[in-house]
Amino acid sequence: MFQFLPLAAHTYYLRCFSNIGVYDPGDGNVILIDSGDHRKSVSDLDLALSERGWRVQMIVNTHAHADHIVGNRFFREKYGCTIFASETEQFFVEHSAVEPGYNFLGVPINRKRNFFFKPHSEKAEILTPEALPAGFEVLPLPGHSLNMVGIKTPDDVWFLADAILSEETFRDYGLPMFFDVNRSIETAKMIADLQGKLFVPAHAPAVTDIRPLAEANVRALEERKAIFLSHCDGHTFEEIFCAVSADLHMTFDLDKYARVCGNARAMLQSLIDDGAITAHMDGAKMIYTRIG
Ligand SMILES: [Zn+2]
Repeated sequence: MFQFLPLAAHTYYLRCFSNIGVYDPGDGNVILIDSGDHRKSVSDLDLALSERGWRVQMIVNTHAHADHIVGNRFFREKYGCTIFASETEQFFVEHSAVEPGYNFLGVPINRKRNFFFKPHSEKAEILTPEALPAGFEVLPLPGHSLNMVGIKTPDDVWFLADAILSEETFRDYGLPMFFDVNRSIETAKMIADLQGKLFVPAHAPAVTDIRPLAEANVRALEERKAIFLSHCDGHTFEEIFCAVSADLHMTFDLDKYARVCGNARAMLQSLIDDGAITAHMDGAKMIYTRIG
């Protein structure tokens, strides 16, 4: 059974795979920050809300990844609540089948078996500062996805979505999802200096001091960039990917490959943007080479 964990006078969260924020202004008409990672978490959340007599008035999706939006449809149908997401993410919330397409550069292999590749589309409005009650703040957190945002509740609690991952996530996944690696690093550095009472990453417990974890994220991303760079000596993507995977002790099945290959391409693109490597075509092969 889920328990709401209190963070401040009006702010709670549910600790699950993708943490869910709950803000009760005092009248029981609550705002959810994300809506559940799985049907089980959605049904547990529904029970916990019912026990308190709370009703969902609004859902704010931090971004459109499947593990943050599964409950959208259920709570809209039950409460008639409005769903908000930032520009661009709102499109993906409404058209979730596009998400794996851009990650895999086409229809993904094994798409019917993988949870992340199942459509979870639901109608959503574009999130503007005016859409939220007074005292909320919306903070762009680019990098992990196209236009992810963090949300601060009026009692000074930050929900940071996937901008800051746990060290276990880096260790277990090897190459977690980052659409734009360099912007992710900039975002993590910015979060290290963020002021607030509490900070809630989506995949780690709430903390009062986010700086150590934010700095660990910067280190983890820089370390991975260095590993990619060490293998860019005239090789194809697949050759580099195999070498990096061995260094990071990663194993694959078709589903995991479909999830991760886009993250590896993002790593290589960050090195191109740095001017550290270049890419050229050799027939139909794309070859990556270190500069200098
Ligand atoms: Zn995500």
